Amino acid sequence: MKRIDKLYIDGCWEDWTGDMIEVHEAATGQVLAAIPAGSREAMEHAIASADKAFAQWSQSSLDQRLDVLRQLLEQLEARGDEIAEAICREVGMPLKLARQIQAGLPAVITKSYLKMLPDFPFTETVGNSEIQYAPVGVVGCVTPWNYPLHQVILKVVPALAAGCTVVLKPSEVAPLSAFLLAEMFAATDLPAGVFNVVSGYGHEVGDVLIHHPKVKMVSFTGSTRTGQTIAHAAADDFKRIALEMGGKSASVVLPDADLKAAVKGTVNNCLLNSGQTCTALTRLLVPADKHDEACELAREAVAKMTPGNPLDENTRLGPLASAVQRERVLDYIRLGIEEGATLVCGGTEAPEGCEEGFFVRATVFADVDPQSRIAQEEIFGPVLCIIPYESEEQAIEIANGTLYGLSGAVWSGDQERAKSVAGRLRTGQVFVNGGAFNPLAPFGGFGHSGIGREFGKWGLEEFLEVRALQL
Ligand code: NAD
Repeated sequence: MKRIDKLYIDGCWEDWTGDMIEVHEAATGQVLAAIPAGSREAMEHAIASADKAFAQWSQSSLDQRLDVLRQLLEQLEARGDEIAEAICREVGMPLKLARQIQAGLPAVITKSYLKMLPDFPFTETVGNSEIQYAPVGVVGCVTPWNYPLHQVILKVVPALAAGCTVVLKPSEVAPLSAFLLAEMFAATDLPAGVFNVVSGYGHEVGDVLIHHPKVKMVSFTGSTRTGQTIAHAAADDFKRIALEMGGKSASVVLPDADLKAAVKGTVNNCLLNSGQTCTALTRLLVPADKHDEACELAREAVAKMTPGNPLDENTRLGPLASAVQRERVLDYIRLGIEEGATLVCGGTEAPEGCEEGFFVRATVFADVDPQSRIAQEEIFGPVLCIIPYESEEQAIEIANGTLYGLSGAVWSGDQERAKSVAGRLRTGQVFVNGGAFNPLAPFGGFGHSGIGREFGKWGLEEFLEVRALQL
């Protein structure tokens, strides 16, 4: 078991002698590590350090910021295997994928900012005014467990590039990569206090961070419920907020689509990271006369997702990240059966040979009522709902018929028709005929899925205030 008894504050590893939080290995349920539970004092110290460091870092040159980000990128690339294994164990994503996504994507994002920053207009001229983009101030970053380093990097890299200083409160379920990140920053020329990590529970140290008057912005990724708490807290002193929250994304298969490709693409997307993905396509909308064929295709696609220990190179479906999450997902599977949906495959038994750890069978429900709870609420597990529709209008209405709006997909033999339907979806991104994920495109949600955007220039602008000098 790895015992991390230090917090990274003001450029130093401070000894921690207080309560600890146990981190579990997803595939076995055994204790993998222990991390500090943090405290009000530790969080206040970190915020004071970030506030002190802001005076200097906000005035640093772009070259200085780029140097630090280049050094960070070297570290991310050199330590990729270590990052992938830590996240594979704590979250449960198969190692091969964890290398590409959990460790690879943070490097891709850092690179994208290194490329974009030299051309970003930190000042512009409009008529007789000079428009200046100034860093917001101390940023509190609060992050979840499903893509633990990716979600941190998406905030920290643009925040530092903007000239902000950061206090990170990582997820208590999957915190290990946040400590690796602090080690990586410690090996760069980043001045003391610009980046700080205080681990602990959300309602304790997280609560101190989101209410602190010296914190000028909270950038959050996580559940919609916590996002609401943060929005309320921010209202007290008008903090900026960026919220990336849940989803219940629809994959709309139009009658002229390649049904096989659409179902396969949707199932693979839905089951990525065992369904613990905010953008997961969890509702598959198919023409009523193709419903039964779609069910059969979904069953075949699911059968290829071999469950097992995520460290095993043959595994395609790992466990969930925690016992709490497994119980939540199993409750939804029971609910789906009670609500009268047809169970195509999966169920509440653990997959064969996976009785230890937090495993849940990949589960497909068919003939799902679009108003039922399994079709409306985010399950955050390997559960797909197949919903039949009668007309394109009805499909669009069903797709838009939840509180969320994070992602979506449209499939059609006619790209223009697909784009026209995509343009009517009330959601932050739409994959048209399996279009590839683009780390330069803005990412974020409509409605209860979020406020603000991450990635690319949109992600940078979140951390900038606008000032006009009238000349
Ligand atoms: P969560 O909201 O429980 O926790 C997220 C973070 O918030 C954790 O660090 C937690 O400690 C902290 N937190 C919890 N309560 C808090 C409080 N009262 N004050 C301050 N901080 C608090 O979410 P989770 O269970 O870790 O993550 C899963 C959720 O995240 C899902 O709903 C998923 O859709 C969402 N998510 C969204 C995106 C996105 O970009 N839109 C990405 C990944 C995950």
